[in-house]
Amino acid sequence: MDIKRRNLLRFAGLGAAATAAGIAPTLTRVGAVEAAPVVRKVVVIGGGFGGSTVAKYLKLWGQAQVEVTHVSLASTYVSPILSNLVLNGQKSLASLTFNLQTAATKLGIRFVAGSAAIDRGARLVRVTHDNGTETLLDYDKVVLSPGIAFNTLPSMLAANRGIAGGKLPIPHAWQAGPQVGNLKAQIDRMPSSSGVFVLCIPKAPYRCPPGPYERACVVADILKRVKRGGRVVIFDANAPTNPADKYTAIQAEQHTFSTAFTGAYGSIVEYVPNATLLEVGTTGGQFGTKTARVRLGDGSVRTQTCNVLNVLPEHKAGAIAFAADLIPVGQRFVPVDQQSYASLADPDIHVIGDAHDSKQPKAGHVANSEAKVCADAIVREFGILPPRTAEEVPVTNSACYSPISSTTASWLTVGFRYDPVSRQMVRIDASLAEAEQPSGDNYKMMLAWANNLFADTFSV
Ligand SMILES: Cc1cc2nc3c(=O)[nH]c(=O)nc-3n(C[C@H](O)[C@H](O)[C@H](O)COP(=O)(O)OP(=O)(O)OC[C@H]3O[C@@H](n4cnc5c(N)ncnc54)[C@H](O)[C@@H]3O)c2cc1C
Repeated sequence: MDIKRRNLLRFAGLGAAATAAGIAPTLTRVGAVEAAPVVRKVVVIGGGFGGSTVAKYLKLWGQAQVEVTHVSLASTYVSPILSNLVLNGQKSLASLTFNLQTAATKLGIRFVAGSAAIDRGARLVRVTHDNGTETLLDYDKVVLSPGIAFNTLPSMLAANRGIAGGKLPIPHAWQAGPQVGNLKAQIDRMPSSSGVFVLCIPKAPYRCPPGPYERACVVADILKRVKRGGRVVIFDANAPTNPADKYTAIQAEQHTFSTAFTGAYGSIVEYVPNATLLEVGTTGGQFGTKTARVRLGDGSVRTQTCNVLNVLPEHKAGAIAFAADLIPVGQRFVPVDQQSYASLADPDIHVIGDAHDSKQPKAGHVANSEAKVCADAIVREFGILPPRTAEEVPVTNSACYSPISSTTASWLTVGFRYDPVSRQMVRIDASLAEAEQPSGDNYKMMLAWANNLFADTFSV
């Protein structure tokens, strides 16, 4: 097996069991007496694809020498991956919900539910529980995978103010949970044949590059199959790379999505690139009438009335990363050393997943991969494993599957390798591949892929 392949397996976690089995706690000899091994404390914050994976692999690879405490807002996590299938009834939110406490018990790590904040000066993580009590956790390292937060338009904040996620007039439904159920209820209530669904896509980078176009396809399929007609208007803030072809604004799988928008859904989808959302409005609450006002590429302004307004606001790192002062003024994501994911502001706080800044997409599969690179770097820094050799550079992999209808799906995959010269994870061009066309076989593979990713991440 060549070195690249070996590295890919290690960092993809496929070699994890063998690696873990080879680790025993090292004992320090003091004279004739064996001293207890040094136990390092790592607090992992975030129960999603990055956080759950890194907690697991720190324990597997660190064994008794690493005490892992896993903190997340709640003891369950709902996966955004496959959540567009909740909209057409093929998945339930319950089927995408994973129990973090159960996983922690299985792995021999401590789980704490609550809202975390990092006090870097005191080297403490402060966890506030729902009942107002606090838990204080000291640490040698923190790994942060808090996902995303949003820069939301004032008019959207005003329309949604004081309303619970399940009833919001204008949901984003981009973090799985009640907003996804809300979006489904709004789609279910759309009138037959004449309903209008508006989807606003923010400028990249955002979570899951193909995800918004996937959502447009799933909704168009529902309108075509169930409602016997209607419209999906996509306002995409991204600009075409070729001004002569508007579909070059699509951020992933341009061939697949432009073919769907002009072919199977040609009578339903209107795709408008270079459309900056200026303002939203609503009358009549969750199931009432909504409006979106956008500025188009030619400078004109268009106002679109609709039954359902699904706005994905501009993304930024989860609030805890800003509060811990890990993000320079004017930036939205955490700069990191891309070999270890150590923050450039604090080497003892590592940041993975959607919240960090690199060329890797903001996606769950690659967050799982980054988590293994990060866990490996930390156990090596602790001296539990020897340092990486010059040839052992981090390699990660990303994969996104997209339902295109209720029976077909497409996929996209790409790998990244650490480049010591630019000090960045760079795309391995030869690894870039995507489905030739949506198919039923891809749909089956999508479910199998997701089950594998869920099993590895959440120990189910
Ligand atoms: C519709 C859709 C489809 C998608 N499809 C794919 C796909 O096919 N492939 C793919 O790879 N990705 C896909 N994604 C993207 C994927 O879901 C995200 O990229 C992934 O969830 C990011 O993982 P994360 O760990 O960075 O953040 P999250 O998964 O968002 O996890 C963040 C966690 O941190 C917790 N948290 C935040 N702040 C605090 C705090 N202060 N204290 C305690 N806990 C905190 C949250 O509660 C949460 O548990 C999709 C996303 C969507 C919306």
